[in-house]
Amino acid sequence: KFTGNFFYDYMMGIEFNPRIGKWFDFKLFFNGRPGIVAWTLINLSFAAKQQELYGEVTNSMILVNVLQGIYVLDFFWNEAWYLKTIDICHDHFGWYLGWGDCVWLPYLYTLQGLYLVYHPVQLCTAHAIGVLMLGLLGYYIFRMTNHQKDLFRRTNGNCRIWGKKPEYIECSYVAVDGTKYYSKLMTSGFWGWARHFNYTGDLMGSLAYCLTCGFEHILPYFYIVYMTILLTHRCIRDEHRCSSKYGKDWKKYTAAVPYRLLPGIF
Ligand code: NDP
Repeated sequence: KFTGNFFYDYMMGIEFNPRIGKWFDFKLFFNGRPGIVAWTLINLSFAAKQQELYGEVTNSMILVNVLQGIYVLDFFWNEAWYLKTIDICHDHFGWYLGWGDCVWLPYLYTLQGLYLVYHPVQLCTAHAIGVLMLGLLGYYIFRMTNHQKDLFRRTNGNCRIWGKKPEYIECSYVAVDGTKYYSKLMTSGFWGWARHFNYTGDLMGSLAYCLTCGFEHILPYFYIVYMTILLTHRCIRDEHRCSSKYGKDWKKYTAAVPYRLLPGIF
């Protein structure tokens, strides 16, 4: 897909699913292997470095390793779900995904661990429990929201969400070849609270990672600033795409679920 703008094409990619042979898929490999595995390995090596330098591993370092480790384990456990995300279903493979996965992710997502090597923080019990609770709650919302949509789409709405049949809006769209397709947008469960409550859960988890570092320095908080920009931009980008895909049906959906991330606020 060439847009005519060389820099945009380079950044966002041209090929949708570049492959070598049958088994090596560039998008799947780069999104789901080097960076995300390195994230955990680098975090563990930071914990080992703390042990080497100070003879102990702080509770903040353990929290970072546990909370971020859960996120990475979840990725591998639910890999089939991951094939339905925007990265795989809609984005093309270019600099944005390649550099993001191989450079940005392993360097930036390990920021808290790196900070704690040079500025070890031993959190008081209340602070540590608060961070753990926020991180686990964020993870729960992230996982359940994604699970609800996955289940809803896989069963074509023939499932139960919170013990009830899901509510939804019937949508249609016309593909480039002129064929008309039908789809459904769920308006109950977490998807009835906000249009991207999965991002809200992700952001709660991201804030918990930052809070493990205490309040001495602003650097570890760069992560939550970045994630807020990334996910808000992603939300707007996705809604723009859905609006042109579903037209008036998208308007019905946004009227039924008026908020994007925070019910009653945004
Ligand atoms: P979503 O999983 O939210 O997928 C959005 C798509 O889902 C839309 O394009 C639309 O696709 C469909 N959809 C939207 N609303 C509904 C609805 N109400 N009912 C059914 N289907 C709907 O987005 P992402 O792929 O961006 O995110 C997946 C997860 O990955 C999120 O939890 C996010 O936080 C996380 N993530 C984490 C990142 C990180 O760096 N840590 C980076 C990016 C994502 P369709 O055209 O099929 O209708």
